[in-house]
Amino acid sequence: MINITLPDNSVREFEAGITGMGIAEAISNRLAKEVLSVSVNGEVWDLTRPIETDASVKLFTWEDREGKETFWHSSAHLMAEAIEAFYPGTKFGIGPCVETGFYYDIDLPDGQQLTDKDLEMLEKKMLEFSRERHSMVRSSISKEEALKMFTDKGDNLKTELIGELQDGTITLYNQGAFTDLCRGPHLPDTGYIKAVKLTAIAGAYWRGDEKRKMLTRVYGVSFPKQKMLEEYLVMIEEAKKRDHRKVGREMELFAFSESVGLGLPLWLPKGTQLRSRLEEFLKKIQKDFGYEQVMTPHIGDVNLYKTSGHYEKYGKDSFQVIKTPAEGEEYMLKPMNCPHHCEIYKIKPRSYKDLPVRFAEFGTVYRYEQSGELHGLTRVRGFTQDDAHLFCRPDQLKEEFKKVIDIVFIIFKALDFKDYKAQISLRDPNKPEKYIGSSENWDKAESAIVEACEEKGLKTFTVLGEAAFYGPKLDFMVRDALGRSWQLGTIQVDYNLPERFQLEYIGSDDKRHRPVMIHRAPFGSMERFVAVLIEHTAGKFPLWLTPEQAVVLPISEKFNDYAHVVSDMLNFSDIRTVVDDRNEKIGRKIRDNELKRVPYLLVVGEKEEETRTVAVRRQGEGDKGSMTIDEFAAFINDEVKKQLTGLYN
Ligand SMILES: [Zn+2]
Ligand SMILES: [Zn+2]
Repeated sequence: MINITLPDNSVREFEAGITGMGIAEAISNRLAKEVLSVSVNGEVWDLTRPIETDASVKLFTWEDREGKETFWHSSAHLMAEAIEAFYPGTKFGIGPCVETGFYYDIDLPDGQQLTDKDLEMLEKKMLEFSRERHSMVRSSISKEEALKMFTDKGDNLKTELIGELQDGTITLYNQGAFTDLCRGPHLPDTGYIKAVKLTAIAGAYWRGDEKRKMLTRVYGVSFPKQKMLEEYLVMIEEAKKRDHRKVGREMELFAFSESVGLGLPLWLPKGTQLRSRLEEFLKKIQKDFGYEQVMTPHIGDVNLYKTSGHYEKYGKDSFQVIKTPAEGEEYMLKPMNCPHHCEIYKIKPRSYKDLPVRFAEFGTVYRYEQSGELHGLTRVRGFTQDDAHLFCRPDQLKEEFKKVIDIVFIIFKALDFKDYKAQISLRDPNKPEKYIGSSENWDKAESAIVEACEEKGLKTFTVLGEAAFYGPKLDFMVRDALGRSWQLGTIQVDYNLPERFQLEYIGSDDKRHRPVMIHRAPFGSMERFVAVLIEHTAGKFPLWLTPEQAVVLPISEKFNDYAHVVSDMLNFSDIRTVVDDRNEKIGRKIRDNELKRVPYLLVVGEKEEETRTVAVRRQGEGDKGSMTIDEFAAFINDEVKKQLTGLYN
């Protein structure tokens, strides 16, 4: 008999040779139906692989990343089986799972090419093999045998991969007529894969090397239920409509210009309004929470970043040092704001009574990203953090953490993110040497974070070993309207920089002490946050935030003058209003302004001019009837007020 330890630390006895599936069956029928793979002492295995010794075991379902990975990687094999059935002689490169789905890099025989039509044919074949439930069987072979097998098959891609493996570690997986070199793990059989969509064909150099052969990469996604695939496809369609690059163009929020440089966003007038309003909103909250606003330059002396350690991290792999012509001074584009704020802290002596001090800055930083990695506003080379650094006594950590969590709550409430949780990243208890700072300080900081989250009722999950080497941290993840997860703000404890910059305060004992530093950015960066906000709201921002709240649409040129009177009066009442007095049909004007996501459309014609009213349409809701200009102003101010009250409790 062997002892199997489950994640809740309970121990069960089984016959040696029990499998992951056997354990799942012993727990419940339902789990046996849902389980996809199993981790045995930290390594993910097939459900059918016998466990011969005592082990810690965790079963994975579709809800777990590992479960999905097993599912999607197995789907790559199923796709390869279908490809080989149609195109014997195809050479297979690698076929991993990706964040959503899988791909396989293949080399079709005789220079053949795949088209979108072929993808449908392959999908059908995959489902046929799924219905036939081909078992996915693991076997070990020697390096020599593996080389012979794939040489005979004529697959030089696989023989190249085998050449790099250690003898004694080589495993094959077979299902139906298809055998692949693979480490696994896999599903027990192809029958689990009930729904498939092959999504794209692309070119990819073998091993990512542009000097080598261009292979065909086929992407796909698969699910255990047809309904899940349908929901996924609807979500993808909606995501395309909400793509922040598309919406940003339609609303004229931001742009990129190759003449300016890749990954360097240009904020257009409306985008700048939006961003400034977000900044003002956060500045006001921060002022209420005792922050002081500071400003620092976009470059700094290279030695500043040598002191902070950022030179080591960013120096080689980011923008290079800037030299002055005459005196040979060396500067760097600012990769982080923290060193500058440490220097502000050091401007004068600090006493325990002065702490905490909180310096906030919308600080723009520059980090090189490869051009292929750039993506709209989410991956850029210059971005503005809503940064702040809190310098406090160790006994103040928990209170400060709670206050930062409060700020994050206020932001999420104002911007209608209802579904969020936070990841607590702590030390790896088995590797204390990886971390700087005393063990007592770490204990204090970790329990401060855990307790602060508990006391604030924040939904969290904890990951051991994910802390930075200089301190534990808390990262916020939000789910957007489409159910996608985004990482936004972060709060990090830091023992390292106070040490490197020799920061001090005089304690009540008249001795010198080191303050603890907290880095925090609730939005993360303005660029990324605006991107997420666009995709979450589809560009229909809350009324308090949206660049233009109303647009006046005269039904013909005759009423342009009245339209401008309406707009002037509303702007005077702080309603952000513009006039669309283009010589276009009213239907066209309505459509164009709906595309620009202006929340209120005010149509004016003869009747409205005579009665000094506007005909109100709400974006997406249609007609709201006729209102006087004052009534409309009061109506809007009321809606904004409702959105912004009650945020602090
Ligand atoms: Zn595999
Ligand atoms: Zn920082």
